[in-house]
Amino acid sequence: MSTAPRETQPGTAPTPVATEASAAEEAPVQPTTDSHDWSVPEIFRSHIIGQRKKGFPRKLLALTIDDGPSPSDTPVVLEKLRQYGAHATFFVLGYNASRWPKLVAQAAAEGHCVGIHSYSHIAKCTSEQAVKNLHLTAEMIERATGKKPTVFRPPYGITTNELTKLARKEGYPVILWSLSSADTSPRIFRNADLIARNVIFTPNPGEIILMHDGGGHMASARALDQIIPQLQAKGWEFVTVPELLRAWAEWMAAQPPKAPPPNTSAGKESDRAPTP
Ligand SMILES: [Zn+2]
Repeated sequence: MSTAPRETQPGTAPTPVATEASAAEEAPVQPTTDSHDWSVPEIFRSHIIGQRKKGFPRKLLALTIDDGPSPSDTPVVLEKLRQYGAHATFFVLGYNASRWPKLVAQAAAEGHCVGIHSYSHIAKCTSEQAVKNLHLTAEMIERATGKKPTVFRPPYGITTNELTKLARKEGYPVILWSLSSADTSPRIFRNADLIARNVIFTPNPGEIILMHDGGGHMASARALDQIIPQLQAKGWEFVTVPELLRAWAEWMAAQPPKAPPPNTSAGKESDRAPTP
């Protein structure tokens, strides 16, 4: 049972509001891409991704589920994802993956992405500990699934420690989140209704949603019974993080090039270089 401490991101808990007036228009849910494909676009390698892409129009959401696998929560989460035809990304602890590799294998076999969350949920570490936490977790994932992990989420969302520096050096995109279910909050982590409300409050396209399955999070698993079907009914599709990144890249590539910023050093309007 993981007793790992939990992520917190002060000041970013969404205001739980569920109003019919703000419901998005109906649209059919259609499969997007191959969720078994864990490849990420080159443009996101080594990048820290902590926000959705503003203006991205597609109704895609990335559920991310941290700290597992756990024999109590993860099977329930997997069952609900299967039931609703949704895909998610599990950021696993290497330590837990070494104890319950079959759950990691099952997640991958059922079309979910498995990413690295560290071996033992460390916050601060030496460069030697960083190597162990990154490489050993990658090895556990590869051993269980036959695939190399391609995405990394730092414990607590810390991006300045040796672990995150190493992950970036090795090309992993660092995946934070844009919407927290707040399912580690002592006030609500046992309350599936509140956890669900934190997510179903009108997400924006491309939101990366933070949840947990590291043991003791059965309410989060149960919240999926509300989150997934209610949002699917409004046309939202649940994809893996690599699928979302590929959809972003596709959309970004189709945008017209941005005009260069004014040449402020020149100071004068007439000194601006013409737009190419
Ligand atoms: Zn965590």
